[in-house]
Amino acid sequence: MRVIRCPDCGALIELPEGTRSGDLVECPNCAGQALRVREDARGWSATLAYRVSCPECDEVVALSDDVKPGDAIQCCGRTYRLTFEYGAYAAEEA
Ligand SMILES: [Zn+2]
Ligand SMILES: [Zn+2]
Repeated sequence: MRVIRCPDCGALIELPEGTRSGDLVECPNCAGQALRVREDARGWSATLAYRVSCPECDEVVALSDDVKPGDAIQCCGRTYRLTFEYGAYAAEEA
C-alpha cells in the first residue's frame, strides 16, 4: 500500500490507484489543501502544493513548487499578481 503523510496535519493518506509522481492529491483533514506527491528511492513523500482561484472565473490553478508572492499567473486572458496572506495565496488583478 502506498501512503504519504500530510506535511500539514500529519495524517496518513492512502494514494489512489494510478497515482503518479508529481500528481496532486487532497488531504481529507485539511480542507482544500492539495499535496504534491513524489516517488523517489526512499518511497513516496508529499509537499504542500498551493492553489489559487481565478478572481474572474473561479477556476482553481495549481501553483508550481517554486512559486513566490508577487509572481504572475494568467487566466481568462488576464494577468494576476499573487499575494500570500494567512498561509494561502490569492490572485489579484495586476
Ligand atoms: Zn492534512
Ligand atoms: Zn479565469
